[in-house]
Amino acid sequence: MSTDAPGTGGTGGTGGARAVGPAATSAPAATGGDSFHTMWADLLPLGRDKSSGGYRRYAWTAADADCRAWFRAQAKARGLTYELDRNGNQWAWQGDPLAGDAVVIGSHLDSVPDGGAFDGPLGVVSSFAALDELRRRGAEFTRPVAVTNFGDEEGARFGLACVGSRLAAGQLTPQKAYGLRDGDGITLPQAMEAAGHDPSTLGADPERLARIGAFVELHVEQGRALDITANPVGLASAIWPHGRWRYDFHGEANHAGTTRLADRRDPMVTYAETVLAARAQAEFTGALATFGKVSVEPNGVNAIPSLVRGWLDSRAADQDTLDEVVAGIEAAARQGAARAGIDLRIVRESFTPVVEFAHALRDELARLLGPGIPVLGTGAGHDAGILSASVPTAMLFVRNPTGVSHSPAEYAAEDDCVAGVLALADVTEGLACA
Ligand SMILES: [Zn+2]
Repeated sequence: MSTDAPGTGGTGGTGGARAVGPAATSAPAATGGDSFHTMWADLLPLGRDKSSGGYRRYAWTAADADCRAWFRAQAKARGLTYELDRNGNQWAWQGDPLAGDAVVIGSHLDSVPDGGAFDGPLGVVSSFAALDELRRRGAEFTRPVAVTNFGDEEGARFGLACVGSRLAAGQLTPQKAYGLRDGDGITLPQAMEAAGHDPSTLGADPERLARIGAFVELHVEQGRALDITANPVGLASAIWPHGRWRYDFHGEANHAGTTRLADRRDPMVTYAETVLAARAQAEFTGALATFGKVSVEPNGVNAIPSLVRGWLDSRAADQDTLDEVVAGIEAAARQGAARAGIDLRIVRESFTPVVEFAHALRDELARLLGPGIPVLGTGAGHDAGILSASVPTAMLFVRNPTGVSHSPAEYAAEDDCVAGVLALADVTEGLACA
C-alpha cells in the first residue's frame, strides 16, 4: 500500500496546491554538497535487492511508495508546497505554483530491474540539494522553482518508458495507458489503485505544463564522453534519433546431420553475417548498431533453422548518419540473403526522431556554466526529451567514469556529484533569482 495516497499528506490528487508554509529561510545553512550526502544516504537503501545489490524500484510497488514518501518528506522538511499531479508525478514548489514561468528541476526515482543508484535519483537528490545551496547563498527568487519526480520513467513494470511525462504531455492517451499490463497481468490502473492513486485522472495536463518556463534535468551520463574529456559536468545538445528494426531471415528447416552444406538454406549464417556487417557499418559511419535480441525457429540443437528473427537497435548523432548506417546494414543483409537463397523481410518497429533541446535555454545554461563546459549528445531517452515538445528543456550530465548504466555497477564519484549540485544551483540561480 502506498504511503503516498492523495489526502494522506501534502495536497495530492488533482485538487491543486496548498501552501504548507513559507520557504524555510531560517533553516541551518547546509551547503549543497552536505545536504546531497545526507539525502543520498537516506535514499540509498530504498528498493535495493540484497542478493543482486541492484535496485528494483518499479512503478506503483512498495519500493516506489517508499521513494515517493522520501520525496514528500524532503518537500515537507524544506517547507515546499507538495503536489501529486493527475498522472502520479510529484512536485515540490518553492514559491507560488500557479505564478507561471517556473524553473523546474528534477528527474525520476524509479529504476530498471537491478538498476544502479544514480540513473534518476541523482537528478532528484541534486535538485533538492541545489535548492538548499541557493538558500544558503541567500538567493532571492524571482520565479517559482519546483523539484519533480516523474513517475514510471524506466517502464520496467509496464513496458513503456516515461509514462508519467508522456501522459502529462499528451503523448500517451489514457486509453492506451489503461491497457498497459505488467508481467503478472496486472493493469496500470489496477496497480495505481492498489497504491492508493486514482487512475481515472490520467491524461494530458496542459495547464500544469503551461506553468513551466524551463525544465532542467540533471542525469548521470550513460557513456564515457565526460570521462574522456576529463570534465565532471556537461550540457546536453540533443537526444540522438534512434529506431528498432526487425529482420526476418526465412530459410529451410532440415536435419543438421544429414543435409549437405551445399544443399542448405540456413538463415542463421546470413543472420550472423548481418550482425558482423552491422558492427562494420557502425564503425564506418560513427553510429551505433546492435543486434541484442534474436529468436530462432524451430530452435532445435540438431535442426537447421527455418526462421531467424533478429532485432536491430540503431542510433546516431544525426538523421543522415542513422539513415546511412541502417541502409548499409540492410544492403549487406540483402546481398547475403540473395547469395544464400534466404528470404529476408525487414520491418521498422519503432522510430524516434532527433530531440534538439531548446537552443536559447541551452545557450543560456552554457553562459551560466562558463567557458569550457562540454556539450554532448546522448543515445538514451529521458523525461526531458518527452517534455521538450511542450516546454523549453535542457539537461546536465554528471561524469560516469566507466560509462556503465542500468546496472548495480553504475557509478559517479562523490566530488562529481557535488560538482553537479553546484552546476545545477548556478543554473537555477541564473534562471530564477534576481
Ligand atoms: Zn534516467
